[in-house]
Amino acid sequence: MLSLCTAVGGASPATAGTSQPHQCSFLSPPKPHLSLTTNRMFQSLSIHCSSGAAKINGSGNSSSNPIIFTRDNPDSAAMPSDSSEKIGSDVKLKIAIIGFGNFGQFLAKTIVKQGHHVLAYSRSDYSRAAADIGVRFFSDADDLCEEHPEVILLCTSILSTERVLRSLPLHRLRRSTLFADVLSVKEFPRSLFLHLLPPEFDILCTHPMFGPDSGKAGWDGLPFVFDMVRVGSGPTRVARVKAFLDIFRTAGCRMVEMSCAEHDKHAAGSQFITHLMGRVLEKLDLENTPINTKGYESLRNLVDNTARDSFELFYGLFLYNKNAVEQLDRIDCAFEMVKKQLTGHLHGLVRKQLMLETTNNHENNISVGKKLLLPGNDRKLMLPEKKQKQHDMVGINGSS
Ligand code: NAP
Repeated sequence: MLSLCTAVGGASPATAGTSQPHQCSFLSPPKPHLSLTTNRMFQSLSIHCSSGAAKINGSGNSSSNPIIFTRDNPDSAAMPSDSSEKIGSDVKLKIAIIGFGNFGQFLAKTIVKQGHHVLAYSRSDYSRAAADIGVRFFSDADDLCEEHPEVILLCTSILSTERVLRSLPLHRLRRSTLFADVLSVKEFPRSLFLHLLPPEFDILCTHPMFGPDSGKAGWDGLPFVFDMVRVGSGPTRVARVKAFLDIFRTAGCRMVEMSCAEHDKHAAGSQFITHLMGRVLEKLDLENTPINTKGYESLRNLVDNTARDSFELFYGLFLYNKNAVEQLDRIDCAFEMVKKQLTGHLHGLVRKQLMLETTNNHENNISVGKKLLLPGNDRKLMLPEKKQKQHDMVGINGSS
């Protein structure tokens, strides 16, 4: 057990046994942005409520549905209120999915079911999978763009997104096409879009906080994060972005409007940690035992839910979210702290016993076979008295 922990955690034997609490600055959760954000959200909410245009989610029951917080975004002020009617849900869009892998196909199924016209383009040939779902597959990006989709939805891996975006023939698209993405990090695609797309193109950054596993039974109540980074105020452009968001709203998602920067802070502390723990536990190869507890089952499920995603996705969560390194350090510190708590107790106990025995020996000058309360030292009882004493000292000093 100890060797396994050492292998996984890499604890230094020199520090084991210290009962001092380990100071770790990483472990205090990052707070300041939360209160700031909440204040801003409530300010924004009260503005909308007082103007009678509070946004509510889903089917129109304002008491049971979560409120959508709207950021102080000049473009979002141009959006018509949708207190209960589903503006845009009747508008059918022509949506081009770029990157038709695991997640692209998963999204396409629901989008097609809602009556939208879906096209797809990917590096690999997915023409058969696309036909099964009811999607027109293109192996040539020029051909796809000449179809003039109203929405380009990037479902590429985080790592390949820049290359794919740079390779798209943007000049073949209509002016004011809406570009959206579903990347699991948000500041990166936001800057990429702002940097590479012409100013006439609208930009919507989104992150459905679920995947083919967690969303296989439906999307009801699952969070959908979005940031309307740049949406023109013309009625067609406004209706288009609303119609796109309505895909997720209609499917029952909990719509959460949030800046890309806020998303990345929250996601590093929740999603990245989840994936990290799943990947670590995967290395332990958790076996199915005849006495699995519910807690153990949930650990095994965590491995299933995270390790099934591509490693590229996990690596992207780390590489393209500047907050992830800090979370990695926090986990490292937390592991060390817990280990020290445990070994600190054990060494405290041993030291106490050793002191007691030394005092007794001096006082009574008695030399008897001794046994320390360490696991696996029964063997010592068999040793001759002198050797036994030496052996104990060597073991405790940790030099054998
Ligand atoms: P992924 O491994 O992150 O991405 C796979 C997609 O990226 C495939 O469409 C693949 O195209 C494309 N791709 C990879 N390398 C490429 C390259 N060098 N050039 C061109 N295309 C390349 O797995 P995923 O689960 O499908 O995720 C797709 C996106 O959705 C990611 O940005 C991810 O963060 C986001 N997302 C995923 C989930 C989830 O649960 N899986 C949830 C929310 C958001 P080919 O297959 O044609 O090679």
